[in-house]
Amino acid sequence: MTPPINADLHSHSTVSDGTLTPEELASRAKANGVALWALTDHDEIGGQARAAAAARALGMDYLTGVEISVSFLHQTVHIVGLGFDADNAALINGLRQTRGGREQRAREMAAGLAKVGIDGAFEGALKYAGNRDLISRTHFARFLVESGVCRETYEVFRKYLTEGKPGFVEHRWASLRDAVTWITQAGGMAVIAHPARYKFSANEEFALFTEFKGHGGRGVEVVTGSHTPAEYISYADTAREFGLAASRGSDFHSPNESHTEIGTLPPLAAALTPVWELLAQRIQVASSPSLEATASATH
Ligand code: AMP
Ligand code: MN
Ligand code: MN
Ligand code: MN
Repeated sequence: MTPPINADLHSHSTVSDGTLTPEELASRAKANGVALWALTDHDEIGGQARAAAAARALGMDYLTGVEISVSFLHQTVHIVGLGFDADNAALINGLRQTRGGREQRAREMAAGLAKVGIDGAFEGALKYAGNRDLISRTHFARFLVESGVCRETYEVFRKYLTEGKPGFVEHRWASLRDAVTWITQAGGMAVIAHPARYKFSANEEFALFTEFKGHGGRGVEVVTGSHTPAEYISYADTAREFGLAASRGSDFHSPNESHTEIGTLPPLAAALTPVWELLAQRIQVASSPSLEATASATH
């Protein structure tokens, strides 16, 4: 049997809330043995051409990627899109709308933090945001660690940035229907990101999966940096129950913050259908100068 390919289909660069550029991330993925990579920045595909070029030059196959913020039953759900056409106008417009409210939200978050004595958080977070349109909770977390309010980003989320805490602002993101439709109509596959992270009841989760499939969604992340090994098993069952393909990705953001290194997760269980099997036509194949050189030398 051929060994499973090392695919990492979830990661973030400086285009959203990661700390490495697309090129740096490509090198890191390559160094860790990744053979098929997708950069999935939040609500933005501006890094796709750079990521694809860097991947192919390093001998990795590439799938286009994005992670879209969606509001579903008063929670934020993330939908990953893979293998879409990055020039698709409806997708580009939809993502622009989705990003639209972030600055206002960030100002409201800063006002909430000011009430508990943390001043200047908007300007502070903005300094960490490579892309102002995508100012996110992650950038606030980096500012609060840097300024000594907390020791690490997880502590910031727990104390300040999650529901009920002073810096949390409920936000209306894209609808599930829109996100899945934008991805699908651009020729890609929609995938539910890290399903174990949401705080849904069993009925709510059933509604999420059912509606997602109804809109044309076809995949779910099973092996992700956000799941425990027990959750790899339970969501493998969910994938089979709903007839969804399975994805694998680290959700790597930063060498200092991410607990899961890019390209190092265990493989998907053999009984699952990997998303990349259904996306074979959408893969941008590595340019392999060494192979070409070998071929011309022997002919
Ligand atoms: P936002 O899109 O502004 O709501 O920010 C969400 C981002 O915050 C996610 O993509 C993660 O990168 C990060 N994040 C969310 N929850 C946590 C957490 N508990 N600890 C660390 N980072 C988190
Ligand atoms: Mn993130
Ligand atoms: Mn996510
Ligand atoms: Mn992510």
